[in-house]
Amino acid sequence: MADVSGFLKIKRKEAGNRPLNERICDHSEVEQVLNSEDRMLQASRCMDCGIPFCHWSCPVDNLIPEWNDLLYKGDWKAAYLRLAATNNFPEFTGRICPASCEHACVLNINQEPVTIRENEVAIVEKAFSEGYIKPQPPKTRTGKKVAVIGSGPAGLAASDLLNKSGHLVTLFEKDDKAGGLLRYGIPDFKLSKATIDRRLDLMVKEGLIINTGINIGKDISCKELLEEFDAICIAIGATHPRDLVAEGRDLKGIHFAMEFLPLQNRVNAGQIVASANPINADGKKVLVIGGGDTGSDCVGTSIRQKAESVTQIEIIAVFIRLFISSEQVDNFLPRSSLIFFVFHQHSQCIAKVKKYGLYVIIHLIGLVLLETNINQPNELCSAICFSRNSIEDGDIEQVKD
Ligand code: SF4
Repeated sequence: MADVSGFLKIKRKEAGNRPLNERICDHSEVEQVLNSEDRMLQASRCMDCGIPFCHWSCPVDNLIPEWNDLLYKGDWKAAYLRLAATNNFPEFTGRICPASCEHACVLNINQEPVTIRENEVAIVEKAFSEGYIKPQPPKTRTGKKVAVIGSGPAGLAASDLLNKSGHLVTLFEKDDKAGGLLRYGIPDFKLSKATIDRRLDLMVKEGLIINTGINIGKDISCKELLEEFDAICIAIGATHPRDLVAEGRDLKGIHFAMEFLPLQNRVNAGQIVASANPINADGKKVLVIGGGDTGSDCVGTSIRQKAESVTQIEIIAVFIRLFISSEQVDNFLPRSSLIFFVFHQHSQCIAKVKKYGLYVIIHLIGLVLLETNINQPNELCSAICFSRNSIEDGDIEQVKD
């Protein structure tokens, strides 16, 4: 265990973000870093719980109490080795993971949770800066060849594990650069693309072959792949959106997040000039449907593009509003809290966030909001219908159904 009374003596301290007025004028990473001493003190708050719900909640099974203990003791290298034991890319998850581990942290019952995500990224960044992350190609090769299709986080993790197991791995990516959602979905202000390049460079030195600009099924047939490789791993689909099927959905000005976000990343990378960006929020009134990470990324990107206003609508809070006093609420630790989240994108001046869930009718020149019952799927579906003609420019109206 870290410090047996650390959680009693030390308060949660976050690294914080760059000043608001500064960060909305650029696309550089928003989050700052704590000094090493404070970071170790934060790790001392971990109670090494008998049942570490943080670990239960972590999608990659991070050994959180173990590396918190090592971090508290100042053994950064050992902490990194425990972290890397279950996590291929802590530098990505430490920056962009929604940190369900912190929702599940036992301290979260009556105190603020351990800064698990920030501790994680601090450990891996120290490992890079101290130089103990080095290429580690497999000592022997199996002679088997594996094709991995898709270079997003899943494809990269699969490639890493397969390569380290000794197989000769070729990673195929349809875009011009590898990274998938990391490169062309996550905004630069959350994940610098230099972080991706640093990891790719390492993986190539470990023997991974990366082929970009190749669309499997078009440029290379599946038959050809099957002839050349012993196995194929398909790791695609993150950009496949969930549509709202309703009359008027085809009106201009309605875009999926993954049509909007990649363009800004391409502008930042110098691949297209800002004025040629076909989906630009500059001067527009923006409505973002969905209050999760991706929706919030759209908020932050719209603000940086100098949108006139940004409104975001989130449905989960309606669940709380409707049922918080009933037996039907099933939202206890260690599950992620159904609470009103405020991400750093929201604290950026012109964003407005609706606290209660609404489904919307969108018109090219205005919108109507319909309040719906998330507990009644049929009712929800019937409420999603688009109207083309009845709204004046800029009108926003709320209608109870
Ligand atoms: S639940 Fe929180 S306090 Fe307990 S082991 Fe995990 S991080 Fe530490």
